[in-house]
Amino acid sequence: MKPEHRGIGMTSQRTRERMVKRLQEQGITNMRVLDVMRHLPRHIFVDEALASRSYEDTALPIGHGQTISQPYIVARMTEILLETDTALDKVLEVGTGSGYQTAVLAKLVRSVYSVERIRPLQDSARRRFQELNLFNILLHHSDGTWGWQDHAPYDGIIVTAAPSQIPESLLEQLAMGGRLVTPVGGHQQKLTVITKTPAGYEQQVVKQVTFVPMLSGLE
Ligand code: SAH
Repeated sequence: MKPEHRGIGMTSQRTRERMVKRLQEQGITNMRVLDVMRHLPRHIFVDEALASRSYEDTALPIGHGQTISQPYIVARMTEILLETDTALDKVLEVGTGSGYQTAVLAKLVRSVYSVERIRPLQDSARRRFQELNLFNILLHHSDGTWGWQDHAPYDGIIVTAAPSQIPESLLEQLAMGGRLVTPVGGHQQKLTVITKTPAGYEQQVVKQVTFVPMLSGLE
């Protein structure tokens, strides 16, 4: 890790401990998720000017009109994704953004495939993964509405921008028993979990959320 990223003051280990304690108070119970978030430096995923705020429970701007998701949402979505009997081999993420959610996943599953439509965000995320020695992440500059067919099926899919309706391609690219965790809707979005079962798709709504919208085309 570069010296300037080691963390002092507001970006230190103690600050992360406080964030994890707050996540537990908010109801996050998966110890593996909490442990990863306790050690992963979230401050390197935002602009240096915002680093001191990076452990607050809030979304922060990352440029190009996008935001890094708040820690609670990252923890909750990851926890839901991991709530299966079997270990996760392949996970698809739509919306790499800063790469923070990607990095959390990379510590918990075998391979992460992440799609982002804005090239400069993808480039910055890639540099962060290199700095953190995360080698089990594959990035793709593409419109994630179509998923990433080349590596399908996925044991889990996580979507970090809100589509108005769940894209059919993402459902198709789920493995049997796999879960899709995604916000759905326009202004009022619902965090939704879809499980693919032999009897069909099971749907469960978790809570109301606010994400940036899923957009089409590339930047
Ligand atoms: N997990 C990210 C969230 C970033 S915000 C983080 O915590 O940093 C959502 C991201 O989804 C943005 O980077 C946005 O550009 C991206 N996005 C929106 N629509 C998309 C699409 N159709 N395909 C791929 N990425 C998309």
